[in-house]
Amino acid sequence: MAMNISPISDPANIKTCQRCGLRYDWRRSPSNSLKMTYCGSLCEQADLGFTIEALLRVERAETEILLPAAA
Ligand SMILES: [Zn+2]
Repeated sequence: MAMNISPISDPANIKTCQRCGLRYDWRRSPSNSLKMTYCGSLCEQADLGFTIEALLRVERAETEILLPAAA
């Protein structure tokens, strides 16, 4: 086994955050949609002004409102 003492497992999964420049393992990023771009939802939100997650939630809510309930 190689030296695997680093909390970062695989160099192939290391990304550099577009906003803060932090190097992170994208698989560990809490961001669901842009985890390969930002280290986390905080940077995602700070850079975009919103999170994709929040946007999708809004769109889903609007769709539910617009859909007619008539059968
Ligand atoms: Zn960041």
